[in-house]
Amino acid sequence: MEDKCKVIAIANQKGGVGKTTTAVNLGVALANTGKRVLCIDCDPQSSLSRSCQISDDPDSLDVTLSELMEYEMTGEDKDYLLINNAIKQFESIDLIPSNISLSGTETALFNCMSRESVLKRTIEPLRKNYDIILIDCMPSLGMMTINALVAADSVIIPCEPSFLSVKGLDLLLHSIAKIKRQINPTLQIDGVLMTMVDSRTINAREITSALRDAVGHNINVFNIEIPRSVRATECPNMGESIFVHDPGGRVAMAYEELAKEVISLERKAQTKLRPHGIR
Ligand code: ADP
Ligand code: MG
Repeated sequence: MEDKCKVIAIANQKGGVGKTTTAVNLGVALANTGKRVLCIDCDPQSSLSRSCQISDDPDSLDVTLSELMEYEMTGEDKDYLLINNAIKQFESIDLIPSNISLSGTETALFNCMSRESVLKRTIEPLRKNYDIILIDCMPSLGMMTINALVAADSVIIPCEPSFLSVKGLDLLLHSIAKIKRQINPTLQIDGVLMTMVDSRTINAREITSALRDAVGHNINVFNIEIPRSVRATECPNMGESIFVHDPGGRVAMAYEELAKEVISLERKAQTKLRPHGIR
């Protein structure tokens, strides 16, 4: 069967730029268009699992991403029961939670064979069940994020319109280029996503347009920008996506628009892959 699943890492080594918010809300927006979506929490701080209120205490969960990756490291045949036990539901998406034990898993990766591709191998059997898998990365460029970028077909880079955030992009783009060169040659950058944009401030507008000037010629900067809104800040507390918490609001509409841009990128990529003469 043709594998149509697309794995997208949501990455930026800077914290607080909207990675987790984007994983949840882009995930739900894509699911609302009929896509089968899985979100993977790849951060030992469990922000995604907490935002979706998968458990009052993610640290007490028995089966999380750590157990799946550690099982993969033992090199035994896949344990489908374990994988199924790890998958939880949130609104219209599936989710694999994480907890603090993911830090231990990251350390264990250093002594394991093909350590960069453990996550890729872990999620391989899930690809047939989903159209899109989103990986919510931790705020670092360590081994866990490298695993996410190796497992991914593409990457979305949320970025706040601040001077330091934009400066920090260089380091990330450099790492992505290195992973592409050495391990995952087909990795694409879907684009930089401006988040928490307060269009009333001149600073935000200037930084966003400077970014478009600086990288826009060879890296996509999504047309849609995610506005800053108190309603978005309230979501994790309520355990709701923006589509439940503030349907029809500015942030919900922006994530809906982003989902359309992401789907159109996917279509373009598929057209490119088709051999000549077959339409
Ligand atoms: P990261 O995963 O990159 O650390 P988060 O998605 O957790 O970032 O966002 C950091 C904080 O900013 C959270 O408190 C979140 O609720 C808030 N936030 C995210 N997006 C928005 C937005 N569009 N408007 C206002 N606050 C936001
Ligand atoms: Mg996060």
